[in-house]
Amino acid sequence: MTRAEIFLARGEDARLRAGHLWAFSNEIDTARSPLTSFAPGELVNLFDAKGQGIGTGYVNPHSLIAVRLLASEVDVAIDRSFFQERIRRAIDTRAHFGLARFSRMVFGEGDRLPGLVVDRYGPHLVVQVGTAGMESLRELIQGALIECFAPEGILYRNDLEARKLEGLDQRTSEVWGTVPERVTVEEAGLAFQVSPRHGQKTGWFYDQREHRTRVARLCVGRRLLDVFSYVGGFSLTALAQGAREAVAVDESEAALSLAIENAEANQLEVPRTIVADAFDALRMLAESGERFEVIVLDPPAFIKRKKDFRPGLLAYERLVGFAARLLVNPGFLVLASCSSHLGVDDFRGAFARGVRRAGRAAKIVDVGGQGPDHPVHPSIPETSYLKVLYGLIEER
Ligand code: SAH
Repeated sequence: MTRAEIFLARGEDARLRAGHLWAFSNEIDTARSPLTSFAPGELVNLFDAKGQGIGTGYVNPHSLIAVRLLASEVDVAIDRSFFQERIRRAIDTRAHFGLARFSRMVFGEGDRLPGLVVDRYGPHLVVQVGTAGMESLRELIQGALIECFAPEGILYRNDLEARKLEGLDQRTSEVWGTVPERVTVEEAGLAFQVSPRHGQKTGWFYDQREHRTRVARLCVGRRLLDVFSYVGGFSLTALAQGAREAVAVDESEAALSLAIENAEANQLEVPRTIVADAFDALRMLAESGERFEVIVLDPPAFIKRKKDFRPGLLAYERLVGFAARLLVNPGFLVLASCSSHLGVDDFRGAFARGVRRAGRAAKIVDVGGQGPDHPVHPSIPETSYLKVLYGLIEER
């Protein structure tokens, strides 16, 4: 096999040897292996400065992450059976937790398949290909997915921002087989209709599965405010488990009308919905003297890039401040962040400052993360992105 070779600069191998999968462009010995000599997505053997093998991966000369490793030895054949093997292991990982038909089946680096995400909706797969390397291996990956899942259809939701950084176009809706406009998610005894083409992410947030159930337990007999509700996952799970009432807030009218349809289809009480910016809605609810016993805040990532850090942190703080004023004493405030650039200590700091703004005190009674279908790569902090704080908000 003749495979292109790429060399790390001296002393740049420690992180990769400890299991990390990325080599940054400034870590490459570009005199010995000029990045411009590679095609985006080309398979490479990666070596350290002494010529010792690090692994097999793919390169993108236009990306800050120059190489992503697929295997920790050089000359590993990247063929359909390689992908079948990795996908089977991903399937086994989820099976330990009883997850199979309604689950994220591949979570990129966490499953040692950097640049690939696969969400399963029963007989349908929704795939996101995030890198030039995975894009050039798409035929092999599709073959392996068909072999492993025998799906009725595969939809590519390749409208990811990250593809721009890789020099790839942003397209949705290319399909193998057939994928209907609406697919069904079964979770906690409910069936949710979601839109794989037009919904957020691939249509559903599997990463919050355990929290929807955990929050529902706190809501029995209580009134819930579900902010950033999307299609009503938290609200409907809580209503099904005995919540007294749920109010869902989202800026997306399409998401809230799906929430209503989903409530009706599951024979649940229909939540009150408020189509509005979350900050405006919280202010409006406070002005009209509304009170809640549980509030969930599950916003989109406020810190998408490192430079958003300060304003993003302040946005979490303000959100907590507004919400804490709406809680009875004591009341539960559940705050989530999917910002991968935000660590749990800084997140707790923003939570604490928000609670102070509202003139209240808090106890953090639980801290959670993403579910087991989003496995964390132990060497790659970015793969551990979801943080959920359960605060009990009291009088000072
Ligand atoms: N809690 C949901 C997922 C939330 S996703 C679940 O468990 O399924 C984030 C949601 O926030 C999206 O539906 C998006 O439409 C909404 N959103 C984004 N910015 C918003 C804003 N400023 N005000 C209100 N909703 C917003």
